[in-house]
Amino acid sequence: MAADAGLGPARRALAARRRPVLPAAGRDRADPGCAGAQPGLPPAGGAQPRRRAAGAEHAGHRRRGRRGGRSLHLPGRREADPGLPPRRGALDRAGPPVPGLSPVLLRTVRPLRPGCDGLGGPVDVLLDGGRVRAVGAGLDPGGAEVVECDGRALLPGLWDHHVHMAQWALARRRLDVSGARSAADAVALVARRMATAPPAAGEVLVGFGFRDALWPDEAHRSLLDPVTGDTPVVLVSGDLHQGWLNGAALARFGHDGHPTGRIRESEFFAVVSPALQDAPTEAIDGFVADAVTAASARGVVGVVDFEAPWSLPDWRRRIAGGTTGLRVEASVWPDHLDDALATGLRTGDVVEGTGGLLTAGPLKVITDGSLNTRTAYCYDPYPAPPENPLEHPCGLLLVPPDRLAPLLARAHAGGLTAALHAIGDHANTLVLDAFAATGARGRVEHAQLLTGDDVPRFAGLGLVASVQPEHALDDRDVADRLWAGRTDRAFAFASLHRAGARLALGSDAPVAPLDPWIALAAAVHRTADDRDRWHPEQEIDRATALGASFGVVDGATAAVTVGARADLVLTEADPTTCAPAVLRAMPVAGTLVGGRWTHRSGGLRVHRRVAGPTGPGLLEEVALPSGPLTVLRPADPDVVAFEPVPGPGGSEELHPPHWARPWPSGRALAHAVDEAGPGWLAGRRVLELGCGLGLPSLAAARTGAGTVLATDRSAAAVAWVAASARRCGLTVGTAAVPFDRAGDGGARWDLVLAADVLYGVAAADALGTLLPRVTAPGGQVWLADPGRPETPRWLAAAREVWTVTTRPLPGGVALHVLRRP
Ligand SMILES: [Zn+2]
Repeated sequence: MAADAGLGPARRALAARRRPVLPAAGRDRADPGCAGAQPGLPPAGGAQPRRRAAGAEHAGHRRRGRRGGRSLHLPGRREADPGLPPRRGALDRAGPPVPGLSPVLLRTVRPLRPGCDGLGGPVDVLLDGGRVRAVGAGLDPGGAEVVECDGRALLPGLWDHHVHMAQWALARRRLDVSGARSAADAVALVARRMATAPPAAGEVLVGFGFRDALWPDEAHRSLLDPVTGDTPVVLVSGDLHQGWLNGAALARFGHDGHPTGRIRESEFFAVVSPALQDAPTEAIDGFVADAVTAASARGVVGVVDFEAPWSLPDWRRRIAGGTTGLRVEASVWPDHLDDALATGLRTGDVVEGTGGLLTAGPLKVITDGSLNTRTAYCYDPYPAPPENPLEHPCGLLLVPPDRLAPLLARAHAGGLTAALHAIGDHANTLVLDAFAATGARGRVEHAQLLTGDDVPRFAGLGLVASVQPEHALDDRDVADRLWAGRTDRAFAFASLHRAGARLALGSDAPVAPLDPWIALAAAVHRTADDRDRWHPEQEIDRATALGASFGVVDGATAAVTVGARADLVLTEADPTTCAPAVLRAMPVAGTLVGGRWTHRSGGLRVHRRVAGPTGPGLLEEVALPSGPLTVLRPADPDVVAFEPVPGPGGSEELHPPHWARPWPSGRALAHAVDEAGPGWLAGRRVLELGCGLGLPSLAAARTGAGTVLATDRSAAAVAWVAASARRCGLTVGTAAVPFDRAGDGGARWDLVLAADVLYGVAAADALGTLLPRVTAPGGQVWLADPGRPETPRWLAAAREVWTVTTRPLPGGVALHVLRRP
């Protein structure tokens, strides 16, 4: 299927209303836009020069090995000076931060090997200036934001090489009826939506995606009317060539009295389809921004947008308005070819003022129809009953060779490549002929049915086969019927690959979802359910499919190598080995475009080097339910010196800097406090004992506690807590006092927090004495504990004074809540 045929007129009509009409030259629909590949056309001016990283593959400082678990140092025993010289060199070398874009160190990733045949590493990857600057073990972060990736896979960011972005943005808001296996199914989906989330008065309920070629029953207006009443309802077919309307919608769109409610082809394109897209520019831009965010969350860094008639001005406006999550190659259709040529931009040229995000794409020409509508232009006729012959038995050729060749020649002369939509085998022959005759460069969109003779011509002509593997799965039954006896050369990805053609995978969204993992999975495993794989001999291997899902930069397929553009995606599973179902639904941990995060899951821990109160610090984002909390901590706990702190009876002891690490119990307790939220904490007085870095105190202050006091026997520790609070704009009081003096002021607290403090008999006993003195009547003690040996005995004693309840927290930590009986 192809969305193009239905989109052209609709978008053209919309665009004509939305912007001044520029002199239109073309007679045919064509869309420029894709630049995933620009074979043969080196970018003219405007392309960004490739910058080589200076410190390529440098080894950097080795991190010290001592990063393991907590070692129990006995108070009073001084450990040998850790002896690491302060890493001032590294800090200084980073220099002033680049405005708006900090360097990023991806710690411990497994990068996809350049051949896409497996993962390397684990290594660190340093990004700066929008490029990969260094790849190696133990890289020095300098002033970079450090992201702990814990061995996740790192690959070039994914491209969807064929989308209709505004259509997709609208479609993803609509009722999905693609799963309907009958007209009755579709009606049931509409009825459910009417019952649960009916449209506002006057609005049209739009459903999208039905495929009725194999339905056992007939779609008809009379099925919809009983469940929809006065609400206009339009269901749009998955190939966008027809609408199924209820009575209210027929009346609204000038088809009152229509016998069936099925409005097809030109009748549909003339009024109904444009009306459904008739939203104000700002509204569409908002929908597109949402769709871009969703694409980023799937690891997409770029799209080739075939939206008609010319999406380049739309994208310039959207990027200026802050929609900066994707690179976009914007195609132009023939009726705006003159406008595109007048800009002087050649395919692949970067549009100024877009931060390198927007490039001019190819000329798009739709030369035939689609399979489902029996309009794809084929050598052999479609099956049809003799009593009901097809008007065009072999499909429809929309742009014959004598019109196509001059169009291509004009684009070629102006530096534009061409993207020619061809689905039937005869249409494919003709577009290949046109490329051969004119010397034009570019790509064939869809290439769904090919003769054996045409397969090798793609490589011979240097053309990209831009294919949408998910269509093979969506259309397998239709193809088995309408292309019976020919399906061995349908969606022939393996044949094309073996013949040397370069493949580019895409979705043709909204025809299939804008999600490259779906396309990847369909290309390597031709079933998405429990059915047999459809023509598995045409599956391609994962390395090929991955390579066909990346962008092309500086003439080469993107890869994770020094100097490469930092368009990257971090995945939770290894795409070269995971099960097909995992590949299809690949969990994405993070996405970067030009070294800038466009998506980052809470699973990635982030920190950044800054100056701290007693030495180099790290700003670390701690993921909490209501949002990340930024905490400041010593950059390297291993080099924080012991410090003298007050001991029992006025003595002084040297204590190891346990406080300098964020321990799991502190994180878990902060999580619990955050989850309790203002509902419980608002206005309460909160005391933290043995606060260390003070995560729970900071979380309590953020969630609206009235007064928060963070205490620790280490003066250095509370200095860091105070610094964190200042950075976050939170009010947290601090005091350097040991347990046995924390109650000296006589204050009482509604909530007493303590994380992992039962690590010695003396500390446990001091705490047991202290808690009843500092807890207000009706107050609670929240004790987070990772299961220290002392804990059971301590809790047993505590139960003589308190009612204790216990619940699990994240990270294997238990929360013991103590209340006065
Ligand atoms: Zn399309």
